[in-house]
Amino acid sequence: MREADSPTRQAFIAGNWKMHKTRAEAASLVRELIPAVKASSGKIMVAPPFTALATVGELLKGTNILLGAQNMGQEEAGAHTGEVSVLMLRDLGVDIVILGHSERRHTYGETDELINRKVRLALAHGLEVILCVGETLDQRERGVTQEVVGSQVRKGLAEVGSELIGRVTIAYEPVWAIGTGRNATPEDADAIHAEIREIIEELYDAGRAGRMTVQYGGSVKPKNIRELMAMQNIDGALVGGASLEASTFVPIVCYNDKV
Ligand code: PEP
Repeated sequence: MREADSPTRQAFIAGNWKMHKTRAEAASLVRELIPAVKASSGKIMVAPPFTALATVGELLKGTNILLGAQNMGQEEAGAHTGEVSVLMLRDLGVDIVILGHSERRHTYGETDELINRKVRLALAHGLEVILCVGETLDQRERGVTQEVVGSQVRKGLAEVGSELIGRVTIAYEPVWAIGTGRNATPEDADAIHAEIREIIEELYDAGRAGRMTVQYGGSVKPKNIRELMAMQNIDGALVGGASLEASTFVPIVCYNDKV
């Protein structure tokens, strides 16, 4: 039996819709997803764009799908034009926020320090966090993947107390695999996940490391989810492109039901 099937690590499949879907489109997708995944025993989340959070949140009430946000501002409130605060996310019933996504790091220049500030703010307000980490192609080719990922994990979790770490999921997303159709081999991803777990053990303890959910992200599709989830240290997936249609997201969520 893979470790992730043990009662301590429930499989966690999350969809990141990025800058896609009007409210009507988001509602239509979620109406398809709700009945299709209701028998799943795993943890499930969808993260619509901010503009569709209220609509999707209403539809998700009483279902087994959690409401995620794709980012949040670094302060509770104030003069931050264009930002959305943790209080606003709470007000909309958001359960989980994705922080440090590679698009935030590389397109919008978010630093580890900024991401850490957001991680601590989200946790302080009772949200769960998916902290994304991952190396670029250049970093991979230079052989510094472990160093880069290790540093992102350590800095992202700086000053996160052991009483809060249980509400953090780490998503390992090699940047070169996101939206490209290329993905890390299950073995390569598993090795990085094992290293992430070792860092959690070093920062916290073996129990917390063993319970930490580590998702893989980067061109996860119905055709590769089973081989990824078969690895000992891969506990779930953060899915971009394939989460935009029920026809591709449902088979990923229900990967275990298909033999
Ligand atoms: C992502 O957005 O986090 C992601 C992994 O995207 P994709 O599945 O499209 O590669």
